[in-house]
Amino acid sequence: CKIDYQPTPDLLKDRIILVTGAGDGIGRAAALTYAQHGATVILLGRTIAKLERVYDEIEAAGGPQPAIFPLNFEGATLKDFHEMAQTLDSEFGHLDGILHNAGMLGRITPFEQYNPELWNQVMQVNINGPIWMTQALLPLLQQSEDASVIFTSSSVGRKGRAYWGAYAVSKCATEGFMEVLADEVDNQQNLRINTLNPGATRTQMRRSAFPGEDPATLRTPEEIMPTYLWLMGPDSCGVSGQKWDAQPPR
Ligand code: NDP
Repeated sequence: CKIDYQPTPDLLKDRIILVTGAGDGIGRAAALTYAQHGATVILLGRTIAKLERVYDEIEAAGGPQPAIFPLNFEGATLKDFHEMAQTLDSEFGHLDGILHNAGMLGRITPFEQYNPELWNQVMQVNINGPIWMTQALLPLLQQSEDASVIFTSSSVGRKGRAYWGAYAVSKCATEGFMEVLADEVDNQQNLRINTLNPGATRTQMRRSAFPGEDPATLRTPEEIMPTYLWLMGPDSCGVSGQKWDAQPPR
């Protein structure tokens, strides 16, 4: 956990960073924070109006001009990911980072009652889509001098928990996939892969999972950004294959 990390103002200057689920919650805060530290941010998500609002906020704050990439992981195909790679290649020629942040909760319910269609949807959005997108973007990451790929985990991705169903399984798979890929790229000094667990954070997803909780007791997305900056920027160079937490356990 690097919650006390003090980034330099131009930490991510000239870096091209893709943030998925950039329209809301933690992804929105990360997109704004990365832009504030000099990055050109590619805002990926499914609700264009939300992405446009983040775009406008970055412009209003005088950040580097971002790009919007509408994509819904639910229906996205390999063809979409390869077209995306081609577009980013012709626009930027390389990619210095991906924050895999988009995610859905599905339902918190006994497994006996879990709907198989919803299960597959959660696995698609939380793990399968991000995996194939990463495969398509690997050549662009390899063009970077220092690329960081961050997968978003959860405490239920470190240890499964009753009733958390596909969400927990998708996050356990995220941890596993990170280890596989990090081990494969071990000898590539310019590419690191890690997971980051935001911990309990004041967002819509947290509200759906814990409706009875007082949101005021939770850290905001903005408050957990130091670890997001550290893991994306040059100060974590050489750190790969590790499981990070954005805040100390509550
Ligand atoms: P939110 O629900 O606030 O935001 C999720 C984001 O993902 C939204 O921008 C949403 O888009 C996007 N998204 C959802 N489904 C899709 C899809 N099919 N295709 C593209 N984008 C999609 O959640 P958080 O900010 O809380 O969560 C961010 C990440 O952090 C998730 O991976 C979550 O699992 C993880 N996490 C969060 C914790 C917390 O306490 N908040 C704790 C542990 C992990 P749209 O706005 O259009 O719905």
